[in-house]
Amino acid sequence: MKNEMTVIFDALSENEAFARNTVAAFCVALDPTVDQINDIKTAVSEAVTNCIVHAYSGAKGPQKITIDTAIDTDTVHIVVSDTGIGIENIENAMQPFFTTKPDEERSGMGFTVMESFMDTLEVTRNTPSGTVVTMTKTIRGADWNKKTL
Ligand code: ATP
Ligand code: MG
Repeated sequence: MKNEMTVIFDALSENEAFARNTVAAFCVALDPTVDQINDIKTAVSEAVTNCIVHAYSGAKGPQKITIDTAIDTDTVHIVVSDTGIGIENIENAMQPFFTTKPDEERSGMGFTVMESFMDTLEVTRNTPSGTVVTMTKTIRGADWNKKTL
């Protein structure tokens, strides 16, 4: 079974809560625990905040964030993409405490948080420019969760 949902919205900080809550609401179909929903919200929040803070800082063109979400059996796939400036060295950017904005009180922990709250995290370049963050998390149904406690 596959179930898909896409949202495209402006890269504005007031849309961050909309984004994380929209993805969380879509994932309710998988019957997640509150902890699992909070993990997803946190990861989406970090990815979207990065698009707002880093991808489009100083940009004049269209500033859109796209989130493609797909539920495939018991796994949710979340793809957050922007068409901004892109990341020069992705491997470095993903290291804990790496930030290009230390002066703005960024701690460089966004990717580390996404990695620890989701099952998988992949960061790639968008075409022709920008960044694509792909995350997955497997959500077993409530019955399965009870059995494993
Ligand atoms: P924090 O997330 O803790 O506030 P941060 O955003 O700097 O700090 P990360 O989220 O881990 O830390 O991102 C690391 C670095 O990767 C950023 O400082 C920025 O240089 C780059 N980066 C991340 N996402 C994007 C993006 N969508 N577009 C361009 N650069 C990005
Ligand atoms: Mg960040």
